[in-house]
Amino acid sequence: KGPDPGIALVKQRLCDVKNKLMVLSGKGGVGKSTTTSLLARMFAHMNQEQNFGVLDIDICGPSQPRVFGVLGEQVHQSGSGWSPVFIEDNLSLMSIGFLLGSPDDAVIWRGPKKNGMIRQFLSEVDWGQLDYLVIDTPPGTSDEHLSATTYLAGTDGSWGTVLVTTPQEVSLLDVRKQITFCKKMKVPIVGIIENMSTFVCPKCTVESIIFPNSTSANSTEEMCTEMNVKFLGKLPLDPRLARCCDEGKDFLTEFKTSPTVIAIKNIILEI
Ligand code: ADP
Repeated sequence: KGPDPGIALVKQRLCDVKNKLMVLSGKGGVGKSTTTSLLARMFAHMNQEQNFGVLDIDICGPSQPRVFGVLGEQVHQSGSGWSPVFIEDNLSLMSIGFLLGSPDDAVIWRGPKKNGMIRQFLSEVDWGQLDYLVIDTPPGTSDEHLSATTYLAGTDGSWGTVLVTTPQEVSLLDVRKQITFCKKMKVPIVGIIENMSTFVCPKCTVESIIFPNSTSANSTEEMCTEMNVKFLGKLPLDPRLARCCDEGKDFLTEFKTSPTVIAIKNIILEI
């Protein structure tokens, strides 16, 4: 059996995409999709003259169409491939969510079919020139990650992953496994983001730790040092962010001066 012909197709299609950033998490619900959207929006806000894309390969739970407020949009196919949906002038999105009949449809596919869809997503979307393509993935390490890793490793330009975790030991344990996966697969790790680190009560302004870690208050930073990966920063828990994601609103514009926006800006500068 020769090499997967998809590798050459993806390489050709993504030749104008300078950087590819896969966002991973060990567990579901830690804020991977939210972080993906914040990173992409902040990239686009901070670099108006460059273009950015988001690819949602969370085949069983695509949430980006909702988060970006474009649920129900249709993607069109032209001679040069699938056209992504534009969120802003310099930010476009492609998600399996656009191809499902209704948001309630479930995708129940086995490995080879998932691999085929990821190959199609990576080789047939007409992104044009992009500075960054930010890729949202399912939680854990599964078929989708293996496929994406194989294809991205064959592309020109740079690529790597950002891992998202909460400070809780259950989440950190899974992130450790993912770091090991990345090292084994020779996937460059750009760094780790800790989400839902603290919560500032809007009424009394006292800062609380929501997910206490029994071992240390700086558990994520310590794990990063121990595993020799870069710590990119912390995002606080902010109910306004959850609401914006549910309603498909741009948190960055609505809450420009919030600690979350400042934190995500600093994280972008670290990437
Ligand atoms: P994942 O992609 O890891 O499964 P999501 O990004 O879908 O997680 O987040 C899970 C839930 O938590 C969503 O309802 C989201 O709006 C919320 N959420 C994520 N991060 C934050 C945060 N920093 N502050 C408030 N809510 C958050």
